[in-house]
Amino acid sequence: MTTNRQIPRLVPGGELTSYPPPDLWDDWVEWDAKAWPERKENRYRLVPTTCFNCESACGLLAYVDKDTGEIRRFEGNPAHPGSRGRNCAKGPATINQVNDPERILYPMRRQGKRGSGEWERVTWEEALADIGGRIGKAIREDRHDEIMYHVGRPGEDGFMDRTLKAWGVDGHNSHTNICSSGARLGYAMWSGHDRPSPDFANARFILLLSAHLETGHYFNPHAQRIMEAKRSGAKLCAIDPRLSNTASMSDYWLSTWPGTEAGLFLAIARLLLEWDAIDHRFVRRWVNWEKSLEKRFPDKDRTYESFIEGLQETYADYTPEWAAEECGISVDQVIEVAREIADAGHRFASHTWRSTGSGNLGGWQAARTLQFLHVLTGSVGTKGGLSPSAWGKFSPEHWNMPPPHSRWNQLSWPIEYALAHHEMSFLLPHFLKQGRGKLDVYFTRVYNPIWTNPDGFSWLEVLTNEEMIGLHVALTPTWSETAWYADYVLPMGVAAERHDTHSYETHAAQWLGFRQPVLRVAGERDGKTFHRTYEANPGEVWEETEFWFDLSWHIDPDGSLGIREWFESPNDPSRPVSVDEYYGWMFENSVPGLPEAADKEGLSPLGYMRKYGAFEVAKDVYEVHERPPADPRNGVSIDGELKTGFKSPSKKLEWYSETMDDWGWGDEAIPTYLESHVHWRDMDLGGNERILLPTFRLPTLIHTRSGNAKYLYEISHGHPLWVNPVDADALGFETGEMVRITTDIGWFVMRAWRTEGIRPGVVAASHHMGRWRQEDKAGNERWSSALVNIDQLGDGVWRLRQVKGIEPFESDDPDSSRIWWRDPGVNQNLAFPVHPDPISGMHAWHQRVTLTAAQEGDQYGDVVVDTAKSTRVFEKWLEMTKPGPGPDGTRRPLWLDRPVKPTPDAYRF
Ligand code: SF4
Repeated sequence: MTTNRQIPRLVPGGELTSYPPPDLWDDWVEWDAKAWPERKENRYRLVPTTCFNCESACGLLAYVDKDTGEIRRFEGNPAHPGSRGRNCAKGPATINQVNDPERILYPMRRQGKRGSGEWERVTWEEALADIGGRIGKAIREDRHDEIMYHVGRPGEDGFMDRTLKAWGVDGHNSHTNICSSGARLGYAMWSGHDRPSPDFANARFILLLSAHLETGHYFNPHAQRIMEAKRSGAKLCAIDPRLSNTASMSDYWLSTWPGTEAGLFLAIARLLLEWDAIDHRFVRRWVNWEKSLEKRFPDKDRTYESFIEGLQETYADYTPEWAAEECGISVDQVIEVAREIADAGHRFASHTWRSTGSGNLGGWQAARTLQFLHVLTGSVGTKGGLSPSAWGKFSPEHWNMPPPHSRWNQLSWPIEYALAHHEMSFLLPHFLKQGRGKLDVYFTRVYNPIWTNPDGFSWLEVLTNEEMIGLHVALTPTWSETAWYADYVLPMGVAAERHDTHSYETHAAQWLGFRQPVLRVAGERDGKTFHRTYEANPGEVWEETEFWFDLSWHIDPDGSLGIREWFESPNDPSRPVSVDEYYGWMFENSVPGLPEAADKEGLSPLGYMRKYGAFEVAKDVYEVHERPPADPRNGVSIDGELKTGFKSPSKKLEWYSETMDDWGWGDEAIPTYLESHVHWRDMDLGGNERILLPTFRLPTLIHTRSGNAKYLYEISHGHPLWVNPVDADALGFETGEMVRITTDIGWFVMRAWRTEGIRPGVVAASHHMGRWRQEDKAGNERWSSALVNIDQLGDGVWRLRQVKGIEPFESDDPDSSRIWWRDPGVNQNLAFPVHPDPISGMHAWHQRVTLTAAQEGDQYGDVVVDTAKSTRVFEKWLEMTKPGPGPDGTRRPLWLDRPVKPTPDAYRF
């Protein structure tokens, strides 16, 4: 047995040995730095878990003090294949979330009027009985569509799919259409896979259509691999109107006009075609060129060469000169980046997430045209190239999975948005106001739509209307602007306080991570037993795995609805399944290689996952489309051989999408360029109009959950409006001066910051800040929020006004009295109308705004909105849709993915 004293902390050459070896994780000893010069030992039990502070699901190691039983800190888990022991600032800040003196520790029920801020503590049993009874009644009365689960930060993949199928409820709603569904649709129309998985570490040229290195999807796992590639000589191009940290690290920064990026990619495609930098073998084998010829070039010969000729003709007008003019960059930049892509060939990797795909009407074509470059160069599935997401993500099976239901909830999947990649979540207030339905039980799960979504005052209006929403249950680890309008606030665990499995496409491999309640696991290693996780967590903070198991029992206590059976213990049907039984089954039966790896260490598969927190299922996953299909009925014949192919209807990569054509979008059925709703030529740039980019992230803040992380707020606590000096001079703004920013439905007031880090004509503000609370000591975290008044100035006219900014306060944490930052920022989203893209369903975040100096009476942080105007904008964008049913009488193409997918008969309109 080794001890950590025998392990050199420095290896020859001076590098740190970074991590305690796993065989010492049960008794890790460190000298207490603060006790120096006394030699005082601290003994720790190290328990792995998974970070919850973005979607990357990096591994964490919790250091549990063996003397006090408390978690002292979090570091990276070296056994995690995605993050490899590394984290961004948000991972270690989990300790702030655990120890937050303002956190919600017990279940609470509203007293008085909804939103009045009066609460009483209740037991978990009372909450479960009330909520479960109400859901059970709705199901018995065939009001299934009145139950909705609306998720912000998801937990375990497939868990709610399983739960809602067991209930027979089509009630899943997500945040995806304010996040990523634009890009998802662009990718899905090629291959059926809705996300990219770049092999950054092995790439020669990396193109990022977002601030990816610092804040992108799979931020830390991707960033570390991008830096590896750079060290090996890869070049990096960032396309962003803003000089992000990523752009500052890049070889090429292309500051394009927002929404013009698809035009740039088509110009690059044209150059690739002109230079014949095409992988013809790949295109001939894997693109649906025969169908494309038939539908788009019917007069041409049915040969591959004719298809290439058709492409050349289709994109002939996208010259470098045209792109330079349209995108606002130089001709040389267009040609140089095209050359890099051509030279990189199979080792060309890229990513786009949020950014332009989420900012613009038609933004989904940015992903569609970017993928086109991979198709032409054959960098699909290659080492150093780009794979579909599913190849790099491992999806375990769930124990006792119920069959799909046959229902269709039109509040989430309306007939107007047949191709929308996810639920039309941000239109819910408008649908409720239109009388399309109502909700009896509405769960918001780590979701804060009043603050996060556009048009937050319309959310406020429906959340305070008990006719529209009967019972609002907020499942949340922290206070939020939306939880304020709940009937139950149920405290849910942070990364160290719950079970979940996760897997994401961080690189060309597959892994499964296991989040676990650290104090429960540490206690069990000490011989303690727990009936439920909240017995080990702070207060009565619970975990959702057990919450949903127990709630399902309360919905169907006698089993007569056929729900309880899905949640009964396989060993004792008189009690709910336990987490050990549930995950034990998963790890034993559905993770290839895990039982064998566990056996080698004398552990059960569950014991292995509890010890290491992650397992690598497959390495070096490339060219899955070329493999023989697992089921011959699902293969595609390529040059006479049966191959796995892709998930599209043709199992090939679809340059021409027959689905889009069939559903009325023939002009958009190929990679093409669509002008944005904020196209620069339509703006009065000589006057006061500018394009507002409200989507960029600060790398050290978490969407709506930074407020309880003091480390993070100490780093990031300013919220200026980025304005180029050219615009600032033209408009007469100096740094620090207040600016009124007027949208189509209202206005808000921020302070200007003159910076050359943004292109002229465009202004920008991070989407992270502007938190508020309506009572001084309740409703949100005082580390981060302003105290505000929300007043109704007239029918539908709302004003949010700050009473005071961030101030020090007394609490159990002495740091709260040392707060030195003051700016809570400004919530801009309240003043944005909904902009649902008629095809992808994505909210187009960018805004056409008018900038003026603040007017008399304006105060910093003021937001004023007229929700009647919001309704009119919603109706205007709704007119752009082409409502279904589709040609076969269905609500949506059956082959497109959707969460909690129902049976095919539910698709019939
Ligand atoms: S990138 Fe940062 S916030 Fe995201 S999971 Fe990893 S450590 Fe956590």
